Amino acid sequence: MPNKNLMKVPSQKLSRENAFPVSLKIGPFTYEIRQSTNFAARHSMWGQARPAELVIEIEPDIDIGQKYQVLLHEAIHAADEHFHLGLPDEDKENAVDRLATILYGILKENNLLKGA
Ligand SMILES: [Zn+2]
Repeated sequence: MPNKNLMKVPSQKLSRENAFPVSLKIGPFTYEIRQSTNFAARHSMWGQARPAELVIEIEPDIDIGQKYQVLLHEAIHAADEHFHLGLPDEDKENAVDRLATILYGILKENNLLKGA
């Protein structure tokens, strides 16, 4: 969920060898993916989508599979914000999590994820 009080944090740019994406297109929107040191410790969550800024922030210190699941989870939140997917408000986190898990499984089992 977007948090208006989130302070600016230094983002860690990825080296070329790291396969994890640094940007993500969601429809006509291009999100910057920031892997922000100690994100989880500071925010008590693994990631956050900020649709108004077109930024997805992710905790860098987790395994690559989990990182992709967090990215998908936040991408679904972002898509929901832009395209109003009709996810149930009262159970949105669970719906987003289930969609992300299913999508991750499809991508992983069909070798469509770099480095995972
Ligand atoms: Zn969420």
